[in-house]
Amino acid sequence: KDPTDINVLADEYLRLAYHGLRAKDKSFNADIKINFDESLGKINVVPEDIGRVLLNLFNNAFYAVQEKTKEEKSGFDPVVSVSTKKVGDNIEIHVSDNGNGIPQKILAKIFQPFFTTKPTGQGTGLGLSLSYDIVKAHRGELKVETEVGKGTTFIIELPIS
Ligand code: ADP
Ligand code: MG
Repeated sequence: KDPTDINVLADEYLRLAYHGLRAKDKSFNADIKINFDESLGKINVVPEDIGRVLLNLFNNAFYAVQEKTKEEKSGFDPVVSVSTKKVGDNIEIHVSDNGNGIPQKILAKIFQPFFTTKPTGQGTGLGLSLSYDIVKAHRGELKVETEVGKGTTFIIELPIS
């Protein structure tokens, strides 16, 4: 583990996800909202591992808003947000999108390995299960809040010490 600035890490992987998607779909645009707690300081994590979690969550968020953009055609403004804050003894990283949300009946399965609702070739179903394991290995929690039609927020909780 290395002392890591979570804000810098989140910013880096958000850009990576956004530019990766735009390289494949030049017409894709989303509003990016960033709200970092600048007083976080560094915490001890494996940066490549937490980076991988962030990349998975950002890729899922962009996918969700891209899908909704295709469906709605007009009048939809895709937004992906990231924020950080201190809550008690934890740092929280929130990754939100205003995509279609996750229906209750599939919510129980999203952290299972190989569960995906994406077409063949577009998803392995491994992103969230791997992310869950990585966050657990950091003695943290990975949580989800979602509302169909409104969007989804994933929350990474990581202990400060
Ligand atoms: P994959 O992205 O390869 O499908 P994941 O483990 O990352 O695998 O996600 C599993 C499933 O969880 C997705 O196929 C999708 O159904 C659902 N999901 C994950 N993130 C979101 C999101 N932000 N909005 C809506 N559905 C999501
Ligand atoms: Mg994924």
